[in-house]
Amino acid sequence: MTDPRLEIRNIRRRFQGREVVSDVSLKVMPGQVTCLLGPSGCGKSTTLRIIAGVDMQDAGEIYVDGQLVCDTVYRVPPESRSIGLMFQDFALFPHLSVSENVGFGLKGHKSDKKPRIEELLDKVGLLPAYDKYPHELSGGEQQRIALARALAPRPSIMLMDEPFSGLDERLKDDIRDSTLDVLKAENTAVLLVTHEPHEAMRMADEIALMRDGRIVQQGAPYNIYNAPTDRKAAAFFSDIN
Ligand code: ADP
Ligand code: MG
Repeated sequence: MTDPRLEIRNIRRRFQGREVVSDVSLKVMPGQVTCLLGPSGCGKSTTLRIIAGVDMQDAGEIYVDGQLVCDTVYRVPPESRSIGLMFQDFALFPHLSVSENVGFGLKGHKSDKKPRIEELLDKVGLLPAYDKYPHELSGGEQQRIALARALAPRPSIMLMDEPFSGLDERLKDDIRDSTLDVLKAENTAVLLVTHEPHEAMRMADEIALMRDGRIVQQGAPYNIYNAPTDRKAAAFFSDIN
């Protein structure tokens, strides 16, 4: 039995007396993309922020590679959690070149970092952009550099919060597919947040369907699609494009 890369147990978070994350438990296995899917406002980003360590749960525990990183009394700082982040507006550093952006989270001297930077730029298909600057790249290309930057330190788990939302609708599926190729090539465990059933169906190995702060159903994409747990889940999937 393989151990999960990420496990959260019974996470709760309330704001102004209202519970927005209610007893959420979840595991992400090595090499797998788990999708936290649900309508806007259901508590997805709050859950991800708690895992990343930029917000704090009221109850529950978080484990990365079997090690406790956060409960209500003990807290490993965000930068020491071996977590990679890609959020909606996770911009590149405009004053750094592409290679400096990708190498930002890497330790060591410039020459030590170079092979890993080249490997990742090659994987995202942008090795020729090594010495360019972010403003010289298209939105889709910047997104691929942000992916390379997040993956460079080989995080145990990647957290992605609606990472394609700012992109041109016509490009999204191509970028989803190429992103998935890179994640699989790196054998990265991913927790991907989205409100789009189509995106979850296209990218996930496992879907956790969230509503009103709770996970209401979890399983392989086609099992959830074919056997939604209730009418609300069915309705949510019915407008899939
Ligand atoms: P999602 O990412 O699924 O759209 P969020 O996790 O961003 O949902 O938000 C869940 C709920 O919690 C929403 O009703 C939102 O308004 C509320 N919320 C999120 N962050 C805060 C905060 N810092 N203070 C008060 N309410 C918040
Ligand atoms: Mg959100």
